[in-house]
Amino acid sequence: MSILDKCYRYNDPEQVRQLGLYPYFREVESEQDTEVVIDGKKVLMLGSNSYMGLTSDPRVKAAAIKAVEEYGTGCAGSRFLNGTLRIHRELEEELADFVGKEASLLYSTGFQVNQGVLGCIPGRHDYILTDRTNHASIVEGQRLSFGKALKYNHNDMSDLRKKLESIPKEAGKLIIFDGVFSMDGDIAPMPDIVALAQEFNAQLMVDDAHSFGVLGPNGEGTSHHFGVEDKVDLIMSTFSKSLASLGGFVAADSAVIDFLKHNSRALIFSASPTPAAVGAARESLRIIREEPWRREQLWKNTSQMRDGLTTLGFNIGLTETPIIPIVIGEMMPTFQMTRMLQDEGVFVNPVVPPATEPGKCLIRISFMATHTESQLDFALEKLKKCGKALDII
Ligand code: PMP
Repeated sequence: MSILDKCYRYNDPEQVRQLGLYPYFREVESEQDTEVVIDGKKVLMLGSNSYMGLTSDPRVKAAAIKAVEEYGTGCAGSRFLNGTLRIHRELEEELADFVGKEASLLYSTGFQVNQGVLGCIPGRHDYILTDRTNHASIVEGQRLSFGKALKYNHNDMSDLRKKLESIPKEAGKLIIFDGVFSMDGDIAPMPDIVALAQEFNAQLMVDDAHSFGVLGPNGEGTSHHFGVEDKVDLIMSTFSKSLASLGGFVAADSAVIDFLKHNSRALIFSASPTPAAVGAARESLRIIREEPWRREQLWKNTSQMRDGLTTLGFNIGLTETPIIPIVIGEMMPTFQMTRMLQDEGVFVNPVVPPATEPGKCLIRISFMATHTESQLDFALEKLKKCGKALDII
């Protein structure tokens, strides 16, 4: 028996490829924008997390290029030793100020933030209370952690209460959840979570990957949206969505950040974010702060699509944000709809198990501030055509 046997036997993707329906690793031949080129053909992009539409902004590109010219292409080491640049510290200060925390810390991806924080802070007598539909990076972090993980049902406060009641009173407890859930687009009920955290003396960490730039009076995220930023201990987010770059950060009290700086392995033993990534994220943050029209337009686009899809008869679940799931059900029709839409000129993402429960496959669409009304009308027309052809509406 070889440990690799399962790889050689694995042919699920090949079966889908043979049907001409394989929807993954599609090569984009242009920059990430409202339209992209695939197989030499322009398609409307409804599968991007570039909520602010900044990945192709000339100012963001120029900032990345300037950072490369000043600092080179890589840091050749981790933040801990030789890889801390002045722009790392400056961006940390700007992010901490933006989300209203004492300090922040950059990691090379958002995934590493969740691994690096959960793998480091909860110890063997502590508990992690985690929403059942939290992002995979939180699941990885909780697996790495010595703390005991208790999953509570999605956004179910009575289940969270039950789990909190089952834990020894004196044990350390961290409740962690996505501010906006990445597949269903619903928002965590933060005021209720905060109330439970206070009652049971638990600390809170919110993953604002899909909320940064999107929620809050100035795009600061879910805590500011609910006005509970003082009650949240750790706020993390990524650069790979609204900030149009690559990297991640966590913001908290200075003491917590200092502890992570000296103990978090995903930080200490991994190379620091590249100058280009930091330059682009910094410029994106500046633009987000100065151009509130982007957030306003994103929400206008969201309501245009939400109303349009509901009128057409699609089931869009409980979404409240620019992430809209179109519930399809089984896997094959989900792949068929994805393919058919691409042939019609619209790029969407299929979501199938393990990212959803079996029988609850969906197509996830998301919007950018820079989508135009006519692009979205075009999308609705094509969604209607394909939805009817496949008997989904
Ligand atoms: N958390 C959530 C909720 C996410 O959706 C993602 C990215 N898909 C991450 C964390 C990881 O961020 P990154 O892309 O920076 O690794």
